Amino acid sequence: MTTEFNSTPSPTPLIQHYINGKLTESASGRLQDVFNPATGAVSARVVLGSVEEVNAAVAAASAAAPAWADTAPLKRARVMFRFKELMEQHHDALAAAITREHGKVFSDAKGEVTRGLEIVEFACGVPHLLKTQFTDNIGGGIDNWNLRQPLGVTAGITPFNFPVMVPLWMAPMAIATGNTFILKPSERDPSPSLMMADLFRQAGLPDGVFNVVQGDKLAVDTLLQHPDVKAVSFVGSTPIAEYIYQEGAKRKGVYPLRVQALGGAKNHLVVMPDADLDQAVDALMGAAYGSAGERCMAISVAVAVGNVADKLIEALIPRVKALKIKNGMEADAEMGPVVSAVHKEKIEAYIEGGVAAGARLLVDGRGLKVAGLEQGFFLGGSLFDQVTPEMKIYQEEIFGPVLCIVRVPDFAAAVNLVNAHEFGNGVALFTSDGNTAREFSRRIEVGMVGINVPIPVPMAWHSFGGWKRSLFGDTHAYGEEGVRFYTRYKSIMQRWPQTISKGAEFTMPVAK
Ligand code: NAD
Repeated sequence: MTTEFNSTPSPTPLIQHYINGKLTESASGRLQDVFNPATGAVSARVVLGSVEEVNAAVAAASAAAPAWADTAPLKRARVMFRFKELMEQHHDALAAAITREHGKVFSDAKGEVTRGLEIVEFACGVPHLLKTQFTDNIGGGIDNWNLRQPLGVTAGITPFNFPVMVPLWMAPMAIATGNTFILKPSERDPSPSLMMADLFRQAGLPDGVFNVVQGDKLAVDTLLQHPDVKAVSFVGSTPIAEYIYQEGAKRKGVYPLRVQALGGAKNHLVVMPDADLDQAVDALMGAAYGSAGERCMAISVAVAVGNVADKLIEALIPRVKALKIKNGMEADAEMGPVVSAVHKEKIEAYIEGGVAAGARLLVDGRGLKVAGLEQGFFLGGSLFDQVTPEMKIYQEEIFGPVLCIVRVPDFAAAVNLVNAHEFGNGVALFTSDGNTAREFSRRIEVGMVGINVPIPVPMAWHSFGGWKRSLFGDTHAYGEEGVRFYTRYKSIMQRWPQTISKGAEFTMPVAK
């Protein structure tokens, strides 16, 4: 809920901006409640930045950019090494902050921090990553080589579901390659952004190189339109990803805005008749209900090939009913609440719509109450059978603990089903046949493929990105693609006077 600021002091903590190396109070007059989804109580309020405040962050990042770009890559890497150590020291505190504002279980939040740390570790190798090609003596005493130069001020706009990991897909890559960076985190779980800002400060990062502006659409639009912002990385839902990409393309100026915008998903897990069913069921449970389904790589569709569906259902129903759904800080919790009351209602509406459309609701997660946490945003796991491609619950991303089973007769029908979907983020195949796996990997129109692996999130050096309407732009996140995104490629040809022959040439230069 957005409220106008009034003069009564707020009893709850206020989450501010971090600009030019310090916490910066907002005068925007706009605040938004931040909830603890397990209790349903307001735990803090976040400021929503104004145009002037975003401009101040861009000014700080612009001022810091030349010196940081001129800092030797090895020195930038040393800051990353110190940041990595500090992140490790504060691993639990970061994970607890994630659970407090997002709701996911603590062990899962720790896993999120670990996956983010892997990008920091990758960025520690930036001197090597910035090496380019060199050709000695292309002819006539001329050498040709390349530079990868930083862009200047870059920005990242991130979703609620990974408040540490997704900012770390961007900031370490941008900063290690010599850029300055402005993070606009999700307004639903903004606290970890400030914790990371403080760790960057302690790591010795100069003021202005990493900044945080809290906010909503106004902050995002201001970043997109600011001529000094050279690149924007976005991760979030598809409508907003498409908007960011299109707005970026429209921006006028000497440098076009470089945009990578990662969007939503509807990830299928195809179960072949020859798959190990126990393994497939374990995989479905974790990938569909882990983090309450609020992962862009969550599995939300199980594609049962041939005669597999009934066996799958028999195994899944008791497991879904037995999910341990609790406050994410409880040691044995398997699933926490969803992020907000509004999101919970949206998921419930999808379930109702699925029933109305004729799908068979085998397990209904609505109406769950967790003792002592009656105001929390809890939902049980839901399981649908007989889902068909024309249903909304199949076509749209629900982003909740709802698994849909679609029955298909054979492998070809499974591949066609996945390929016909507008999203192409992740997909998995469970089989014991190598040739089926090979054919699947080659034919499937999805960016990230798991063979007997349910959530194939690529490692730091393999880059992350979907296909179709799951990614707008050409480059994937982090890895070598990340280095490419955050640097401009320059080609240099050089020759020295002793090798220059006299006389102007009017024909196309060719190797001699
Ligand atoms: P969201 O699109 O609502 O918000 C993402 C960011 O965009 C936030 O920082 C938000 O403040 C900003 N934003 C929201 N509305 C805006 C508007 N109208 N104009 C400009 N900016 C706006 O996404 P979310 O609900 O926070 O996150 C969940 C979504 O993110 C899911 O769709 C999920 O699949 C997706 N996601 C994708 C990936 C991926 O790698 N493809 C990873 C994580 C999450």
